[in-house]
Order: sequence, then C-alpha cells, then structure tokens
Amino acid sequence: MIKTAIPFVIIGAGPAGLAAAIAYGKGAVILERNQEAGKKLLLSGTGQCNFTNTLSKEDFIRACRKAGPWLKSAIYTYDSDFFINLLEEAGCESFAREDGKVFPSSRKAEHVRDALLKTTMHNGAEIVYDTQVLEIKKSKNGFILKTNNDEIQCTKLLIACGGSSWQQTGSTGDGYFFAEKLGHKINPIKPALASVETSSQDSFSQCSGSTLQNIRADFITKTGRHKDTDDVLFTHRGLSGPLILNNSYLLEKGDTIRLHLVPDAETSVPKALRDNRHKIVLNALKALPLTEAIIASVLHYLCIFADTQVRDLSKKEINKIINFLQAGDFIIKQVESLETSMSTAGGVLLKEVNPATMQSRIVQGLYIAGEVLDYALPTGGFNIQAAFSTGFLAGISAIS
Ligand SMILES: Cc1cc2nc3c(=O)[nH]c(=O)nc-3n(C[C@H](O)[C@H](O)[C@H](O)COP(=O)(O)OP(=O)(O)OC[C@H]3O[C@@H](n4cnc5c(N)ncnc54)[C@H](O)[C@@H]3O)c2cc1C
Repeated sequence: MIKTAIPFVIIGAGPAGLAAAIAYGKGAVILERNQEAGKKLLLSGTGQCNFTNTLSKEDFIRACRKAGPWLKSAIYTYDSDFFINLLEEAGCESFAREDGKVFPSSRKAEHVRDALLKTTMHNGAEIVYDTQVLEIKKSKNGFILKTNNDEIQCTKLLIACGGSSWQQTGSTGDGYFFAEKLGHKINPIKPALASVETSSQDSFSQCSGSTLQNIRADFITKTGRHKDTDDVLFTHRGLSGPLILNNSYLLEKGDTIRLHLVPDAETSVPKALRDNRHKIVLNALKALPLTEAIIASVLHYLCIFADTQVRDLSKKEINKIINFLQAGDFIIKQVESLETSMSTAGGVLLKEVNPATMQSRIVQGLYIAGEVLDYALPTGGFNIQAAFSTGFLAGISAIS
C-alpha cells in the first residue's frame, strides 16, 4: 500500500544518515535495515570511535587528497568543532590525542552513536528499523521505495547506505545499486584502509607487532608510482599501519612496496659494523633505529645467519644488508578484502553530485552522502567526519 508522501526519506542510519536527520528535523524518516543504528560506527576505532581530527580545516582538506576540494564545502561548514559541540550538547564529551585523533571521553563508540540518536529524536526526525529498501523508482513528484515491509512515497530522498566493507554491519553496497539504477555512474569499488599480505611474510612474521615511525615508501603499481611517509606496522601476514592502510586503495596483487627502512644505511651500516666488530651481526646492527625482531627478520630474508661474527661477513653480504635497508622491496601477495577492510574506495562519481548541496546533478530531489561516494580517505577520523559533514549538508539542503 502506498502511504502519503514523506517529505524526506533517508536510507541508512550510519553517521551520514543520522547527521542528515538531525539537520532536517521533523519530516525526516530514516529507513534502517538493522534493528539498531550505526552498527559500523560501533566497531570504529576498535570500539572507541575516532570520529574526527583536530587538524585545521585547510590541513583536513589536504589530508583528504584527491577528494579534498570536492569535500571542502561540507567540511568547512560542518567541521570538527561543529561535530564535537553537537555531541557534547547531547552528553558525549570528547578528548583529542596528541596525534590529533578525537575520541569520546568514555572511549566508547556507543556514546557517539547514542548522542547522534538522542539529537535525531530531539529534532523530531524518525527512525524505522528492520526496514530494508529493495528498490527505488522515480515518480512524478518524488520517489517510490519498495521495502521488505511496505511501499513508501517520498518527495526527497537521501542515499546514505555506506560502502561495501564489513557487510555484516548492513553496508552491503545497496547504495551503489540504487544510485546506478537512478542514472549515476559508479567508479569501481575496491578495499580501502586495508592491510597487505606480502610474499616475504615467512621471514617477517617473526617481527609481527613491530612498528617503525615515519618510514618513507615508494608504491610501485601497474598504473604508476607514488611516495608517502608514515608509520608502518609489521604483521604476521605482511604490512599494515597508516603508511600501508592509507595507500592500500591504490594497490593490487603483484605491486611493490619499497620501504626505506634506514635511508642512510650506506654510512650507518658500515659504522655499526665497524663500531661492533667483535659482536655477531644481529647485535652489531642494534645500533640502527630498528627493533631487534626486524633486524632478525631482515637477516633471515637475506639468508644471512644472525649469529655470524661481523668479521666473517663477506662484502657481498654487507652490500645486501645496505641495499635492503636503504630500499627493500615487499611484493604484495594479496590486499585485504572488502570483508575486513575498514573502508571502500570507489562509488558514486563526485562530479555527478553538487558539493554545495549533496544533491544529485542527475536526479532532482535525490541526495547522496557518506561512504557511498567516490572518496578514499586516510585513517584518523576522516571517514566519520566526512560522513557526518556530507550528511548534515544534505539534510540542510533538503529543507529548501
Ligand atoms: C572496523 C572499522 C573501523 C573503523 N574505524 C574508523 C574510525 O575509527 N574512524 C573513522 O573515521 N572511520 C572509521 N571507519 C569507517 C567509518 O565507520 C565509515 O566510513 C562510516 O561509518 C561511513 O558512514 P556512512 O553513514 O556513510 O555509512 P555506514 O556507517 O556504513 O551506514 C550505512 C547504513 O545504511 C544501512 N543500509 C544499507 N543498505 C540499506 C538498505 N538497502 N536499506 C536500509 N538500510 C540500509 C546500513 O545498515 C547502515 O546502518 C571504520 C570502519 C570499520 C569497518
């Protein structure tokens, strides 16, 4: 049965959908397939929810890389201070870590989710749970939505279905399907904020858990080569940490990550060996800014026994150590899949959505916000802030 048209329907109660409902207020109805809101939000920041970052607006936009200029309007208008204050007014205080990441003071993601829900209700919007949108048709005056329960008419519609990673949270990629059916182009989706498995994992699994700060890397892919510097984490299967996570959307099986673990190895390795000539190579190399486990892994990978006396090392072996520490190649065996990656790259083409309103340039009355859009943002609270800002802007725009 078709009911009277709802002014503004929002598909999805993630941070983007909740922000839009808060902004629009009375007359907004969120349709959420789950029995609760923000299931992915609850997982974020390992349950602690790093929801934004203290970077200045300019630096925030710069950190958003290619999508930065497009996101500027949303982020500048509804920035981190706006988000922090909104949560605080609903009883969720926050704190910023030294690295700029902002978390709820309780370190509990549910407090961010509950504060968003409280404000949604306070502003007069509604949420209907257990309601999965299956199909959307454009009508003369708006949209007709087929759900698992009913058919619903609305005048304006926001797609805030999220991406396609961690599908058990409800974000199964429906937003791409709906947007495409309504005439939008979708940039192919792939995992983002993903770790990688490397072919040298047998040697390096022994240093699993070791982190190195500010490591320079070259990412050598089929489509080009680029550089970045950040912290890298060795895992039991390969590499992770911000350096890898933030660039993973560009990587594929067979690509190379060249790590400059000790950029001055040409001088520092001979010095370490000279200064410690009566030791075994493992102990001599402890003079370098590496953990013992990483040195042991490098030696294992290079087929040099860790207990070789420094004086017994051949010139060839010393050169192998220098070359690898200066520019060591890690070949990607596999990029973590969408099943467990933290985000999805690709999505609704940004040029088909007006960044000043989040309204579709293809379909009148249609709005699109959050991770369903074609952006790939780094770790550090950028994803939740971007979902919030684009959602809020969509809700405000839909009022007029
Ligand atoms: C493990 C993990 C950790 C993360 N940690 C962080 C972090 O610390 N900081 C950060 O910034 N980002 C983090 N992220 C990313 C961040 O959570 C997402 O980018 C953000 O939640 C996206 O918000 P959204 O509102 O666009 O979509 P989502 O949060 O995915 O919400 C979409 C909603 O739409 C609903 N839905 C989908 N299809 C339908 C349909 N057909 N009908 C009805 N409802 C539907 C879903 O059930 C879901 O509730 C993390 C992600 C993961 C998986």
